[in-house]
Amino acid sequence: MKPLILLIEDDSQIRRFLRAALSAENYRLQEAVTAHDGVAQAEAHRPDLILLDLGLPDQDGIEVIRSVRQWSTAPILVLSARGQERDKIEALDLGADDYVAKPFTIGELLARIRAGLRRSSTAAPGTVFHFGNVEVDLEKRVVKSGGEEVHLTPNEYRLLQVLIKHAGKVITQRQLLAEVWGPNATEQAQYLRVYIAQLRRKLERNPARPKHLHTEPGVGYRLIAED
Ligand code: CA
Repeated sequence: MKPLILLIEDDSQIRRFLRAALSAENYRLQEAVTAHDGVAQAEAHRPDLILLDLGLPDQDGIEVIRSVRQWSTAPILVLSARGQERDKIEALDLGADDYVAKPFTIGELLARIRAGLRRSSTAAPGTVFHFGNVEVDLEKRVVKSGGEEVHLTPNEYRLLQVLIKHAGKVITQRQLLAEVWGPNATEQAQYLRVYIAQLRRKLERNPARPKHLHTEPGVGYRLIAED
């Protein structure tokens, strides 16, 4: 059975465009035009992935995330318009998995859909995580780069651990700060800049051009395991 995608979008041109592109990839598709109908269809059809526009006629798309996340862990990919930085961050904080900014290319969107479906179908990561020439043994708490053990401070290790937990997926500054330093530290974005720079210095081949510890400008960070 091909994965079922629920598209919640009021722009008929975008719907038509995505309908053609997604059926060409053999995805099954359900469509909703309003937030209310989107939530109802999500409940009725249990899609494998949700594509969600934030500017919907009846309610903010954010409300769809709030509602669906009460019972579903299906990946939610937000289609966000330019200049909606705050909405995008709020969407991620509420449990959206990722976003693509409009206007997006179909290649970009399909790649994000595949990544979202892959993440949700793979079981919990093993105890050893790899990226580049780095190997992280999550059980023994040993980090090696090119076979050599690398010493990380407790905060650096904790930050790396959280990035690994969310590997492939964008994680907002607020989420990272809360998971590493606790809920009272969510305004301390400078901690992150300092610690990410330290991790890059220790783990990236070229810290000035990081390939794995990636910055999502204005939003947060993403650990990319693939080269
Ligand atoms: Ca819209």
